Amino acid sequence: MKILVLNAGSSSVKYQLFNMETNAVLASGLIEQIGENESNAKIKYFDNGVERVVERQSSIKNHEVALKIMSTLLIESGVIADLNDLDGIGHRVVQGGASFSEPEVVTEYVTAEIERLIPLGPLHNPGHLAGIKVSLEQSPTVPQVVVFDTAFHSSMPKHAYLYAIPYKFYEDLKIRRYGFHGTSHRFVVKEAAKYLNRDINTLNAITLHLGNGASVCAVKDGKSIDTSMGLTPLEGLIMGTRSGDLDPAVLFFLARTLGYTIEDLDKLLNKQSGLKGICGNNDMREIDKLAADGDSQAQLALDMFNYRIKKYIGSYSAVLGRLDCIIFTGGIGENDSDVRLNSCSNLGILGIHIDPVANNQRCREITTISTPDSPVKVLVIPTNEELEIALQTKEVVEKIH
Ligand code: ADP
Repeated sequence: MKILVLNAGSSSVKYQLFNMETNAVLASGLIEQIGENESNAKIKYFDNGVERVVERQSSIKNHEVALKIMSTLLIESGVIADLNDLDGIGHRVVQGGASFSEPEVVTEYVTAEIERLIPLGPLHNPGHLAGIKVSLEQSPTVPQVVVFDTAFHSSMPKHAYLYAIPYKFYEDLKIRRYGFHGTSHRFVVKEAAKYLNRDINTLNAITLHLGNGASVCAVKDGKSIDTSMGLTPLEGLIMGTRSGDLDPAVLFFLARTLGYTIEDLDKLLNKQSGLKGICGNNDMREIDKLAADGDSQAQLALDMFNYRIKKYIGSYSAVLGRLDCIIFTGGIGENDSDVRLNSCSNLGILGIHIDPVANNQRCREITTISTPDSPVKVLVIPTNEELEIALQTKEVVEKIH
């Protein structure tokens, strides 16, 4: 069984082709700068066990041309004979609102809903829609499935997802917390249950997805009951360029004292804040180096980043009551042993004890970094959102056959 996973943005398309018998990646690629004169299309695949990369530069004016080039690259590399030979196509969609709690076969209703949700996902849903529409035209006989970043968090209770603002804003405008990174949180919890040999339906975990975007999720009995991102991915942890939690009155203050507009504030909090706002850099590898060389702003950014994570671990431990494991994932979570150690330091009161030696290993696969007698297991689990989308697509495709 072959499943193609598509992540279409407004100016890029990322794709991965999986062999679902082995979950192996047969090919992957990226098409960038769609709509510009100098677009770039790339494919990586294996030819008799040898990795090959092919790149093409041309003007790719829209998603239709982009998907045609992807199809040509997949066919020329020999991994498929025709896009219609695929067993399924899984599309990543960031904002599923309150409409979707499960992956769905693409229908007119589903595309209309994704379109209706554009005001809640203005940066992502238009690009996803463009990709889905072209893919339906180009592969009309292949089952197509949408997998939502928000779906895993649809199990959050109302008292966790509501903001304490007049209730009519929830009723009329659906202003509430939705949460994101759900595909990753779901994937690592499933992996943890397998690794710990536990029934996922009784597993309590705190999952920390720490990448350029970062979020934390409280998982009770295998289900999300709270998460740090909200109406948009701005809330919660400190991120590369996003502030995460702050007093909303800061915005009134800036508007009144400096005359900031809505656009200025949006840019400030989403693009100029977080680690970058504190130390001028948003790449954690660089920040680690700067801090090691004695840069005090870089050290401050790290301290703030870790402190915010620690506060969430504390509050989600209280929310869960019993905690079985903490899971670190994402570029920072999988690679930065200092962040893991410092964000979990002095948490013995919660039963969290990191083993510094185990924590210093390179974690290419699932690794336990807590001490053997730590009541709470601390795990590093490499995430694989594309594989999770492929697995969910496979499940839906098998149901409709
Ligand atoms: P995205 O959210 O865009 O998918 P990633 O999950 O790839 O991002 O995470 C990117 C972040 O991970 C960057 O801040 C990068 O510096 C950090 N990172 C990657 N490798 C390392 C490493 N070896 N040590 C510390 N940080 C790392």
